[in-house]
Amino acid sequence: MTNYTKIQLKPGKEESLKRFHPWVFSGAIARFETQPEEGDFVEVIDSKGNFIGIGHYQIGSIAVRILSFEKEEINDDFWKKRLQVAFDLRKTLGLVNGEYNNTYRLVHGEGDYLPGLVIDVYAHTAVMQAHAPGMHFVREALAKALVEVAGAEIENVYYKSETTLPYKAELGAENGYLIGGVNQLDVAVENGLKFHVDWLRGQKTGFFVDQRENRSLLEKYSKGRSVLNMFCYTGGFSFYAMRGDAKLVHSVDSSAKAIDLTNKNVELNFPGDERHEAFAEDAFKYLDRMGDQYDLIILDPPAFAKHKNVLRNALQGYRKLNAKAFEKIKPGGILFTFSCSQVVTKENFRLAVFSAAAQSGRRVRIIHQMTQPADHPINIYHPEGEYLKGLVLYVE
Ligand code: SAH
Repeated sequence: MTNYTKIQLKPGKEESLKRFHPWVFSGAIARFETQPEEGDFVEVIDSKGNFIGIGHYQIGSIAVRILSFEKEEINDDFWKKRLQVAFDLRKTLGLVNGEYNNTYRLVHGEGDYLPGLVIDVYAHTAVMQAHAPGMHFVREALAKALVEVAGAEIENVYYKSETTLPYKAELGAENGYLIGGVNQLDVAVENGLKFHVDWLRGQKTGFFVDQRENRSLLEKYSKGRSVLNMFCYTGGFSFYAMRGDAKLVHSVDSSAKAIDLTNKNVELNFPGDERHEAFAEDAFKYLDRMGDQYDLIILDPPAFAKHKNVLRNALQGYRKLNAKAFEKIKPGGILFTFSCSQVVTKENFRLAVFSAAAQSGRRVRIIHQMTQPADHPINIYHPEGEYLKGLVLYVE
């Protein structure tokens, strides 16, 4: 095996790693054999010198992300093996390039034993995002391994890490195609609905793949309802509501670009359908000025807390936002409410929504509890991978 620089842990600090939690925090490190550079491969050993795992080194609170708990070579074959396992799972889930669905997450970081890496697939294009410098340095090898594993399924690999890598590392990551790039901007299909996905200019990898199953659930409750899709982005929930025979659907997002995309996607799926209208407006302003016509409301805001130290403010934000919905939603209304902040736990989120409900004085019952779909798997040893939570509430 290649000799990687060794990082030795303080006594007792190997416990979580022995249970396969893939992170080494900087405070757990006793000494470096030689100081590694950002993104280098390192070998982690315990205080007695026993092998623990091989990972990527990074400057920051998470100092090492473990790639393997076995003594093995991290080379092209390794990436291929990992991507094959990820690809096989998505095939098992029935998500790969079917006529009914060709949009899915292929790699969900730690959930696919590839910490610091996200890959979303839209038809024949994979959009790859590195969240750790180590993954940035191996991007070419990953792209090559990916097309080898996926065969004809993936023709283009677009790399989009300009904003996801720690800026202090000064890696100069540029967005661009690593493979292909000619037949750009395919139409993605999710559960039979079509979406223009703009990975070049869009947020994240271009689309929020993680709401697929929750959108399907919404479709079942849409018949005859007046729907407000707040924080609509590309309009995902709106089209499911329209297909589910909603009476009217209003999509709101503060970004004018998002509203343009939503309107384009309406034309793609329901050309000329007058039930839909989109508004580029701030959520809180819209909720304040709107009437009480809606009996199905979706609240899917961006992450209010990216770090633990802003958790309190985030919970206040969720409370205020949900309180406005409770205030206005029609009796017999249904509220789909979400949080995608990783640091906000299921319990905390529920507490924030509880406070909002209590403030409104309405009778509120939980009829569904939602989470992320199967192509965003949670490594059981890394509970931090669970980030999306939602409640479906029946409001009297
Ligand atoms: N529900 C979407 C994803 C939402 S992402 C889907 O299913 O795809 C969050 C969205 O909230 C982004 O599009 C962002 O532009 C929008 N946003 C952020 N702050 C906002 C605000 N104050 N008011 C309205 N929209 C906002």
